[in-house]
Amino acid sequence: MKLKDYMVQDGTSFRLKDHPQRVEDPFESREAAQAEMQKNLEELQELQAKLYAQNRWSLLLVIQAMDAAGKDGLIKHVMSGVNPQGCQVASFKQPSLEERDHDYLWRIAKRLPERGNIGIFNRSYYEDVLVVRVHNLLNHSQLPPSVLGDDIWQRRFSQIRHFERYLVENGILPIKIFLNVSKEEQRRRFLDRIDDPTKNWKFSCADIREREYWDDYMHAYEEAIANTATKAAPWHVIPADRKWFARLLTSEILVETLKSLDLSYPKLPKEELEELARAKESLLAQGRTEHARESKK
Ligand code: AMP
Ligand code: MG
Repeated sequence: MKLKDYMVQDGTSFRLKDHPQRVEDPFESREAAQAEMQKNLEELQELQAKLYAQNRWSLLLVIQAMDAAGKDGLIKHVMSGVNPQGCQVASFKQPSLEERDHDYLWRIAKRLPERGNIGIFNRSYYEDVLVVRVHNLLNHSQLPPSVLGDDIWQRRFSQIRHFERYLVENGILPIKIFLNVSKEEQRRRFLDRIDDPTKNWKFSCADIREREYWDDYMHAYEEAIANTATKAAPWHVIPADRKWFARLLTSEILVETLKSLDLSYPKLPKEELEELARAKESLLAQGRTEHARESKK
């Protein structure tokens, strides 16, 4: 599994059609794949502990996809082993009235992960160049007319590139994941949600209406990725027709990104180490007194 094959660092010639939604199984058996996943989850746990202790960097996993592409399951599985204390998940839905009264990055900035944490965005500011573009939801009464020309999307791409650069330069590393699911696989998963009573809640008739805009969405995704894939903040276009593969690949990306940082447990300065030694001496001495008192009884 070569991660480079799925990473887009330069979007200039990016075409969605060059990226598969389904890959041939690279593993000999399902067990082999599971073992690999298990190994990654254990590594992730160790790396996250260091990330948290070092309190310098944070990761921001940005997950974008069509409905039923597997965002929720991905989050559940990939983050299953990590300490919840070092994780923050934010889901971005239709903006509230208050959010609508602000610029589109306002609600985003409030949910950025603290230093030392892994933040997960279930949808993100990319919705503002995806669903907003497909359905033309720009707030014409509020945005200044001078920015509402045909170049509004190019402007937003540029804003996003700058924003992501700002994040990186402040120690927040975006890892952008597009779960590339096929229209046929979405159809199967919708049917499954309708047939399985435990999944009914996940389905809404609005999902069927959105599906009719599939091609418009693909066009919007293609342009968004092409214009915002940079070396500092690359996109990962992940075949998502097989859920386990998407999860495995994402765990691999997280592990590799964390490994590329200079993570280590903080080393205390000399004075603090001396203080620790004194504290230890005091605790040991208390133990000896206690022991002596007990044995006199
Ligand atoms: P879900 O993730 O299934 O709970 O759905 C959330 C819905 O909110 C999706 O249909 C998104 O497209 C929509 N959404 C998220 N962000 C925005 C936005 N900025 N403007 C309009 N709709 C949005
Ligand atoms: Mg939904």
